[in-house]
Amino acid sequence: MSSPELTPADLFHCTLCGDCCRGFGGTYVDAQDIAAIAAYLQSDPDELTERCCRRSGGRYLLAQRADGYCIFWDQVCRVHPVKPRMCRRWPFIKAVAREPANWKIMASVCPGMRTDVAPERVRGCVKQVLAAEAPEPK
Ligand code: SF4
Ligand code: SF4
Repeated sequence: MSSPELTPADLFHCTLCGDCCRGFGGTYVDAQDIAAIAAYLQSDPDELTERCCRRSGGRYLLAQRADGYCIFWDQVCRVHPVKPRMCRRWPFIKAVAREPANWKIMASVCPGMRTDVAPERVRGCVKQVLAAEAPEPK
């Protein structure tokens, strides 16, 4: 008999430790992310971009403070209800759908991720989450 399908809640529960809000490659934001954060903070999108983002190639990243944390981290995420797509979708990301071994690598820096589930079952769940997501803006 095959095992029941896993839901995201079966695989991940954020402990709010904030480790993913520091270092790594940074958090990419698109125009929708910036508009949502600006509205939430009652700020102008251009002003917010200038103050809180850095360019990386042709894209924007959230700025990081000198201690390596995201500019919006302050014990908790200050923009949690409208945090960028990249933060919202973690750890159900394409890199795991492509290569499920990435899940364990990511889990080594994220205590909220279960590591006792077979990679192919993890991949199945990640694929379902991605398939249900709205397409990324061009
Ligand atoms: S590292 Fe994982 S558990 Fe910690 S805040 Fe980030 S997503 Fe949540
Ligand atoms: S926007 Fe929030 S969740 Fe995303 S990296 Fe910054 S502090 Fe963390």
